[in-house]
Amino acid sequence: MGNASAEKRYTPLVILALVGALVATLGFWARDRAAENQGSNHAAVGATGEHYQWKMITTWPKNFPGLGFAAENFSRAVEEMSNGRLTVHVYGAGEIVPALEVFDAVSQGVVDAGHGAAYYWKGKVPASVFFTSVPFGLNAQEMNGWLHYGGGLELWQEAYAPYNLVPMAGGSTGVQMAGWFNREINSIEDLKGLKMRIPGLAGEVFAAAGGTAVTIAGGELYTSMQTGVIDALEWVGPYNDKSLGFHEVAKYYYYPGWHEPGSILEFIVNKDSLEALPTDLQAIVKYASRAISQDMLDEYTARNNAALESLIEEGVQLRRLPDDVLLALWQGSQVVMQKLVASDPMAAKVYESYRKFYKGARNYHHISEQAYINSRDKVLGDGDY
Ligand code: CA
Repeated sequence: MGNASAEKRYTPLVILALVGALVATLGFWARDRAAENQGSNHAAVGATGEHYQWKMITTWPKNFPGLGFAAENFSRAVEEMSNGRLTVHVYGAGEIVPALEVFDAVSQGVVDAGHGAAYYWKGKVPASVFFTSVPFGLNAQEMNGWLHYGGGLELWQEAYAPYNLVPMAGGSTGVQMAGWFNREINSIEDLKGLKMRIPGLAGEVFAAAGGTAVTIAGGELYTSMQTGVIDALEWVGPYNDKSLGFHEVAKYYYYPGWHEPGSILEFIVNKDSLEALPTDLQAIVKYASRAISQDMLDEYTARNNAALESLIEEGVQLRRLPDDVLLALWQGSQVVMQKLVASDPMAAKVYESYRKFYKGARNYHHISEQAYINSRDKVLGDGDY
């Protein structure tokens, strides 16, 4: 009984002490948060050293399958490598700005970083198309070579410098599929009158072939196809497309991805935000982007085939674009490319670097990758390894 009454007497005191401790803790936390938000780029001095918090916005909805995971993976990698000294909060399209305003928001310092694809900004930076993919251009392996050892990344940095942006590779899809169509494509005539979501230079090529090209953000594609706003769309390839359910709204799945043979995504970082970081954190950002970019290619390489098999089992009709359609698209691509190069000095400068690298890579791949794949097919035939 005595103990019980002692409990009664002391319990309120214990609760009071706990509440007091909680208030004090919250007070310190709030003070740290206030300091973090003070001034530019969220730097604060905490008890355990400098901590930085970034906001990254994306051109895809939050947790968007495939391409959308890269921003989350980047955030996790940076946090792990920096032992929590740099945290990157990811916001999906529409949470801070709409999908296609990511470039401007990062440029203006509304947020620190963004994830998307360079060719979305071709209206602002015509040369940007080269840093994603151009029709009949470099494949994934070649793009990585050009960007990181062929001068491509330096040109990308130069193209974005006027916007106070630092670009980095932010994903690699490998060769894409030509896309989803609600009717068969047997000749170039079949493209006439077709409304297709197809961004970048390829959209201009498609338009020159008689179609209508539109750029629609990824999160709106399924509904646009379902409601007949568009007749065709391209996104990525089997693994990513399957997760978005495009096979439920289109019947024909065409290859090869002439329009995006080796697409690279991008991380863009506000230059002031990057330079506000100590050099070790800057290095972490740089190497994390490179690792995440390669990681996407690895994952797509591992998962595309099984996804394609499952799509075919579900009734998708796989089709190859006829050679004469591909030839007409190539001819259109040359016209569009020459128009681009004539219209913008930076695009012309990037084109020179790109085509020089292209020539060398193509020559060497004749006797390496291409020769090997051809030989492999020849000796194996329909047999298994
Ligand atoms: Ca695409």
